[in-house]
Amino acid sequence: MKRWTAIDNRINENSALGLVEDPGFADVVILNGKVLTIDENFTIADSIAIKADRIVKVGTQAEIRNLINIDTTVIDVEGRTVIPGLIEAHLHPEQASLSELEAEIPVVKTIDELLQWIKKQTELKSENDWIIFPKFFYTRLKELRPPTLKELDDVAPGNPVFLNGSFGGIINSAAMSISNITENTSDEGIMKDPFSDQPTGIISRSAIKLLKTPPDKIYSEKEKAAALATMLNRYNRYGITSICSGAGDMQTFNMYRELKKTGELTCRVFLNIRFPLDLRHSVSVDEMLDSVNKMDVKTGDGDEWVKIGALKIILDGGILTGTAYMREPWGQRAQEVFGFEDSDFRGIINYNFDELERIVTKAATSGWKFAAHCTGGGGVDLLLDVFEKVDKTIPLSDKRFAIIHGNFFTQESITRMREIGIYADAQAAWLYKDADAFSDILGQERASHFLPFRSMIDKDIMVNGGSDHMVKFDANLSVNPFNPFLGMWCMITRTTEHGNVFHPNEIITREEALRIYTMNNAYATFEEDIKGSIEAGKLADIAVLSHDILACPADQIRDIESVLTMVGGKVVYANEAIKLK
Ligand SMILES: [Zn+2]
Repeated sequence: MKRWTAIDNRINENSALGLVEDPGFADVVILNGKVLTIDENFTIADSIAIKADRIVKVGTQAEIRNLINIDTTVIDVEGRTVIPGLIEAHLHPEQASLSELEAEIPVVKTIDELLQWIKKQTELKSENDWIIFPKFFYTRLKELRPPTLKELDDVAPGNPVFLNGSFGGIINSAAMSISNITENTSDEGIMKDPFSDQPTGIISRSAIKLLKTPPDKIYSEKEKAAALATMLNRYNRYGITSICSGAGDMQTFNMYRELKKTGELTCRVFLNIRFPLDLRHSVSVDEMLDSVNKMDVKTGDGDEWVKIGALKIILDGGILTGTAYMREPWGQRAQEVFGFEDSDFRGIINYNFDELERIVTKAATSGWKFAAHCTGGGGVDLLLDVFEKVDKTIPLSDKRFAIIHGNFFTQESITRMREIGIYADAQAAWLYKDADAFSDILGQERASHFLPFRSMIDKDIMVNGGSDHMVKFDANLSVNPFNPFLGMWCMITRTTEHGNVFHPNEIITREEALRIYTMNNAYATFEEDIKGSIEAGKLADIAVLSHDILACPADQIRDIESVLTMVGGKVVYANEAIKLK
């Protein structure tokens, strides 16, 4: 297989260097803006000159006007705020892009709305047809409980129902019957009523494979690529110019490369490779490391458009299904909400210390950045134990290893992360969606560790900002909402969906939130020298905003959109408010 690194990077380096020293006339200028450069001093300028795909000068309008000739495209932004293109640290566009091609996924906020939707589906479908709700988390319902088996059976007596929560789910009696799940089925993922021993309809991940759901709809490569390009364009609308795709493989990498070739790629991509490569079968750590050995690429291979990202593993379950691996048992309220019997249950963990040590060592010695999906505090502590041990022989501080999600960071874990040089890939909008539910489920004290942005920044932890967007197309209604301005608003106000302000002592400033979605996220992909700020020599990835993010009322921040988004000096999204001359 061909290695991608050398050729593409060399071309780009040469073009950049020559231009910055003697910019000549600009291809594009952006004039009359409030340009938040997000450079080291947070300098505010007013105009930018661009040549080819690079920023060649940032300065006053008079200075930049000197670089205009007859061929220059002039964009007068009429005083609007201009920021570096936003970088999204964690999402799943390949999956999201297909999620509503067949039918819209509903937004349900109550059990009643859910049951109504299921009932409607039974009218639209034939008997025995599956009704599947992808990415369903009942901790996001007002009632904070799953629908009961009876409720599901009443609205869908003849159709199998599966409410899929990724790390678990809920099924009805028809689904059990079609899948041959009975009281005698011995899978630890099937929750049973302690008195009758009958399955309750609640399942965790291991039981999902027992479901006889129809195979996923097969799309051609062409259909997938077209859907993906459209999804990336939806991101552009919110000023996003680069993404880190959370979990892909070489096929995905090649799909992005192909989009680049055909000129349809409108976001730069850092693509994490998830191991094991095939999740349908459990594989040993030996087999997994063997597949890492066989890869002909490593982190950073590619070009400025499409790069190989981290070696990613899934360490534990999820907080929304009560399967995140916690520091202590989930507790009684969680038992009620999630329906598990074992009062000592701490969640699921996929690797033990020795296995993790082998995987982390492999990454550290073979040029891979390492990142682990790890949602619970117990998982965070285990990972830090492993990082600390490996760090003694192979220093990790320059390797930019990350804990993905890691929702519950105590002061102690933050200090340990700081000492080893581990950073946090955090999803701010989860505060908005989930903080209220977790105050109830975990109690105030344990929930107080939920996404402590102020504490992390104060201790110099590199915090990243991403959404973990998985399904739906709408920026605010998707699971999870990918609107980066909603994410920033959450960091700045810590306001939840129910209007509560959650631990305001962890609020951060607008400048800090912007820096997270630009420079910090560029650092995570080893690209702080080429993106993340508006400075001469960097890629011309730029967004012009609908509101002044530094001066507008705090509650308007979540409504901000881009009016013009540019990647590599080319406009990839513009609304009618902006005129190009
Ligand atoms: Zn993810």
